Amino acid sequence: MDCLFCKIVEGEIPSKKVYEDEYCYAFEDIAPIAPVHILFVPKKHIGGACDITAENSAVVGKIYEAIAKVAKEKGLGNGWRVVSNNGPDAGQTVFHLHFHLIGGRPLGVMVSEE
Ligand code: AMP
Ligand code: ZN
Repeated sequence: MDCLFCKIVEGEIPSKKVYEDEYCYAFEDIAPIAPVHILFVPKKHIGGACDITAENSAVVGKIYEAIAKVAKEKGLGNGWRVVSNNGPDAGQTVFHLHFHLIGGRPLGVMVSEE
């Protein structure tokens, strides 16, 4: 399958690894919008949040455990945000489920009105 994040998980495309366990891989976003901007992806391909089912949803809990751990390690005690874009209206550009961990500055309103 021609999937950018599968290739990153497999090491075929280089990434700046932040965290890895049996279920998930986390790496620096190539175009950070804040001092901390890390992407968390399941190692096993899921196209997006719309493809989460009873069969594969356990990995989401595992990913959130990893996010909370990394947020602490990165010193984001003042707050942070997790974003998961799903589909065209949300601006999803990579169709492998991912969670953006964003922090390190005040983040403003959650969604712009545009
Ligand atoms: P989304 O727009 O929610 O699908 O997020 C995709 C994210 O992947 C964007 O924030 C991109 O900057 C990021 N991205 C794209 N290619 C790479 C790459 N090779 N390494 C790290 N991050 C990437
Ligand atoms: Zn994939």
